Amino acid sequence: MAPPDQGRISAALTAALRQLVGADNVVDQGETLATLSLDFYWYSPVLKRELADKRADAVVRPRTMDELRGVIAACCRARVPVVPRGAGTGNYGQCVPIFGGVVVDLTLLDRIIEISADGVLRAEPGARLGRVETEARRVGWEMRCLPSTWMKSTLAGFLCGGFGGIGTITWGSIWAPGTVRSLTLLTCEENPREIRLEGAGCELLLHTYGTTGIVTEVRLGLAPRVDYDQLILNAPDWDRLLDWTDAFARSQVWRKRLVTAFERPIPSYFKPLRKRLRPDEHATFLLTDRAQTPDVIASAQAAGLACVYQAPLSDPPMPPFITDYTWNHTTLWAINHDPAITYLQADFGEDFRAQFAQLKQRFPDEVLLHLEWMAAHAGPAEGAPGKFVGQDVRVGGIPLVHFTTEARLREILEACAEIGIYIANPHTFVLEDGGRIPNLDGKRTFRSDIDPAGLLNPGKMKTAALNPFAPA
Ligand code: FAD
Repeated sequence: MAPPDQGRISAALTAALRQLVGADNVVDQGETLATLSLDFYWYSPVLKRELADKRADAVVRPRTMDELRGVIAACCRARVPVVPRGAGTGNYGQCVPIFGGVVVDLTLLDRIIEISADGVLRAEPGARLGRVETEARRVGWEMRCLPSTWMKSTLAGFLCGGFGGIGTITWGSIWAPGTVRSLTLLTCEENPREIRLEGAGCELLLHTYGTTGIVTEVRLGLAPRVDYDQLILNAPDWDRLLDWTDAFARSQVWRKRLVTAFERPIPSYFKPLRKRLRPDEHATFLLTDRAQTPDVIASAQAAGLACVYQAPLSDPPMPPFITDYTWNHTTLWAINHDPAITYLQADFGEDFRAQFAQLKQRFPDEVLLHLEWMAAHAGPAEGAPGKFVGQDVRVGGIPLVHFTTEARLREILEACAEIGIYIANPHTFVLEDGGRIPNLDGKRTFRSDIDPAGLLNPGKMKTAALNPFAPA
């Protein structure tokens, strides 16, 4: 789908925005405008074609909640799109302004307001996750789940654009009950209202690309802090590595924060690690409870895996991080190695070994396995919140694809569906086409209440795809 032409905003609106947030915090031209209009959409060759030329008419950086409220009100009066933005590390153009308009960069609203004695974080939307994690660890807690971009990305950006990552093996994803405790949002209206969603009700905002409100405050449940070791294990035999890693992931004995496996030659793409691991073998990357590390290594060695790297995850967190090679960072290393590589986001079934075999039989050199183990809680694909934490571990991942044509990519997606592999399609910026969107009707209804003119990140929700700039 080719998005329609960009709109333009009036000089009067630009002047009003400057008045509101200060001239230094309005960008309406040049390289910075281009950078702040885009994200990591270029992971997908399809989105690269569709989004490369999209630009905001202006990017504004409110410094206070009052300024944010004023910006929303001014844009709504002028009927101009409002596109929230965190750190811009999303992969599907979530914060790219499809029709132009005003991108609202929320990174200056970044206060960590409180970490309570019982482990609940209260913070502003633009707080960077790396800072939140550092502060939480300092007082005996840690984030339940973090994307691999945790040093850079923001709280609200993760909750509205992301899914899960490091920690998901134990605590589930952003949808896990008890993780998101409350979200406060501003509506997109001439007189923005403040609404607070609690508990399961927060689901209306999770992974909705900022189409159902602008988050102004986040309350998150934290987990008790654990001291971790970072381990890399190698084996020349894939089945051996897979069997041990799967058993490790499912065992309730081992405490862990990350369980990732790569089939070769993926480890050879990790340039900085080439001297530390065996690049021609398969690899498992783990974050383990330090108290258990010797036993974990002994268990892996007994199964024929070699531990080639062991380093503590320091406090405060300081690189090197093996997490920089996992989740969607793997894809980044792969694209650096070969720009023709792209990716899928997969959930495999109970019979994942049979599914791998079918996939490899049909696409032996085109698809490479990158697996991430996750605790299956109430995954959005499954419906309402239900089972929880460390139970029902499932195998998902971000397989790599050697891209040739869009038609071939569609064939691979169709083959996955035939084999029974669930794919959250990362090659679309349209929410409903990407998957992972439970309660669509509820979200539509909510959106029409909080954004009656359809100005919030238009084009991302199919059911409200009107271009606000188009003639009536
Ligand atoms: P942005 O990209 O700026 O925004 C994401 C979405 O949230 C946009 O739709 C935006 O409009 C909306 N938004 C931002 N702020 C607000 C607000 N205050 N109110 C309402 N809406 C808002 N994702 C994962 O889930 N797990 C991973 O492990 C992971 N690894 C990644 C690795 C790499 C190398 C890259 C490039 C991406 C990865 N991602 C991953 C995707 C992305 O990094 C995360 O989802 C990240 O948390 C997004 O945060 P951000 O601040 O960059 O958000």
